[in-house]
Amino acid sequence: MKTRENYLECQKYWMDESRKAVDADDRVMGMLCLRNLVELSDKWDALHNHNKENDEPWSSIEAPEVKPEQMVLFHTAVENLIKFLTAGNATFTIESEKTQKYYTYKITRKESNEYNKPGEFIYFCSVMSGGADQYSYMAVFDPETFGLRFTAKSKFNMESPAVKAILYFFNGLREGKIQEHLKVYHAGRCGKCGRELTDPESIELGLGPICRQGGLDA
Ligand SMILES: [Zn+2]
Repeated sequence: MKTRENYLECQKYWMDESRKAVDADDRVMGMLCLRNLVELSDKWDALHNHNKENDEPWSSIEAPEVKPEQMVLFHTAVENLIKFLTAGNATFTIESEKTQKYYTYKITRKESNEYNKPGEFIYFCSVMSGGADQYSYMAVFDPETFGLRFTAKSKFNMESPAVKAILYFFNGLREGKIQEHLKVYHAGRCGKCGRELTDPESIELGLGPICRQGGLDA
């Protein structure tokens, strides 16, 4: 289980990285990340405790009236769900059973840029905003802490409903569970290559037969 200590460790990592940055742009970006992280860690306890007390942090907020093309309910273990989310091209929807409000997100994976090391991945999380296949970039997703890191390009923050909703989902995953009253769907497509899923096992896992073994279906 990830705790605030893990999160602070992550914060320290970014502090070190921003100090090491030689390029001026990198340094500015590092400082922006740091500022966001400090802000985040201050809110961490409040958010975490809030979620413990109220199982529906987003019950009072308005979710966009944007319906994804297809919604296939996940019936799988949390570890499979995490594999799907980090596969590289995962489109998924979370829905509140209580309010029937939902958000659709996309987590894409890029290999190595200036903020991570070669062979490591960076994950970008977006939310569907203006209709099918229109996504707004939210933040960088950290699969180690199940946290979000806001970068300069993001127009979202901790108060954004779409951010609160996904962090509620992530808080559950961090504890090895899917939150009560929360339904998770994939879009009927492989979380890695985006191909349509046809056989029952692929539909269950959200990954095609070759992709789930580390290859690529396409
Ligand atoms: Zn695939």
